[in-house]
Amino acid sequence: MIVCKFGGSSVADAAQLRKIKQIVDSDPKRTIVIVSAPGKRRSDDEKVTDMLYGCAALVDQGKPCKPIFEKVVERYSTILDDLKIDRTEFDPLFRRIEAEINEGAGSHYAASRGEYLSAKVVASFFGWEFLDTQDLITIDIDGTVASSSYEKIARVIDPKKRYVIPGFYGSDNEGIIRTFSRGGSDITASVFARAVGADVYENWTDVSGIYAIDPRLVENAKVVQELTYQEVRALAGVGANVFHEEAIAPLYHHVIPINIKNTNDPTAEGTWIRASRDYADTPLAGVSAKGGYTRIVVQKLLLLKKVGIRQGLLTMLHVFGVHPTFTSSGIDSLAWYFDSSQANEQILVSLCARLKEEFELDEVTVTTDIAIVGVIGEGSSRLEGLTSKATGALAEGGIELLFLSVGSSPNTLLLGVPQNKQKEAVIALYAELF
Ligand code: ASP
Repeated sequence: MIVCKFGGSSVADAAQLRKIKQIVDSDPKRTIVIVSAPGKRRSDDEKVTDMLYGCAALVDQGKPCKPIFEKVVERYSTILDDLKIDRTEFDPLFRRIEAEINEGAGSHYAASRGEYLSAKVVASFFGWEFLDTQDLITIDIDGTVASSSYEKIARVIDPKKRYVIPGFYGSDNEGIIRTFSRGGSDITASVFARAVGADVYENWTDVSGIYAIDPRLVENAKVVQELTYQEVRALAGVGANVFHEEAIAPLYHHVIPINIKNTNDPTAEGTWIRASRDYADTPLAGVSAKGGYTRIVVQKLLLLKKVGIRQGLLTMLHVFGVHPTFTSSGIDSLAWYFDSSQANEQILVSLCARLKEEFELDEVTVTTDIAIVGVIGEGSSRLEGLTSKATGALAEGGIELLFLSVGSSPNTLLLGVPQNKQKEAVIALYAELF
């Protein structure tokens, strides 16, 4: 059995839907299809999901959602008309959804309807069964998928039937619709792939696989043929927009291969993601960067001699809503790197004052606008001279090094650089190492 997920651009209009029909028809093992909501048809187009969030926002302001909802209806209507699908089922659905949004059903409900309607349209077009995820996927309070979901799915799926399923949402423990974070249809498909023990999870998108570098940064960026789950997770963690970073988790211990494929070029091999790979010839997988980090450095003579001090300092950060992603330490100092959105200037000033006072620190310094660049690859730790080559490439480009983490992860070398040098750093590292 092959589970296929088609992203927003693959279901954006009737022409794309015809392509995906051809794709599923060409292999009888493709029996489970998960769809996103229609995405952009052109660069100046709007995603249906964004419009639906707009609908919920209008209702929050006490206004009816009609002006935006009409645009949503128009998107689906064009597709229905182009594909000559009977509208009898759809018109009442549009009116019911509009009414529910107006009655305050909330942003999770509103956003979920993009995938819901998309799956309804595709199911009609294919003549396959529509299966709702509201009753099948339970999303716990921390955003993870409840394990009961897998059993429920396995119970309802009949291997002899073919299904179209909406991505992106399930429901909370009370049965109320809840969405994953943006791009979450990748997670839905992982959950189904695991539940049915799929042979392959095909993730159909509009590029021919995962690139070793953001293809907008260099000409002829290389498509990576094979990656491990860990590499994909690490690349996503440093900002690569490859595959939803939480979508690996359901498959991690179940060894189901993922194939990233291009709807517009279906014969291209794409990228394979597997539990392990032979990395002798290709030790590195990719380089990517994520900006928007702030650093706090605290200093005090004999700071780290005091037992429990790290915990105490960290607890104070948490109190101020700061949850660091990366940490490093010196002889008498500690540094934390966190997402800048966690603390505005006012919070930073109060936090630094509290830290200084409470822990009698000699100095607390804050640096904003830092980017963390990751060089990812299963073979990276065995690659001789990787760190010196990487730091050398940055030095040659006149890029200041603010942070270096070697050896804390077997497959990742992390380098901190000023955010205004983020792109240059990624390009320099790609040129030097790939
Ligand atoms: N439609 C949702 C989004 O735009 C989810 C998805 O496409 O996976 O984020």
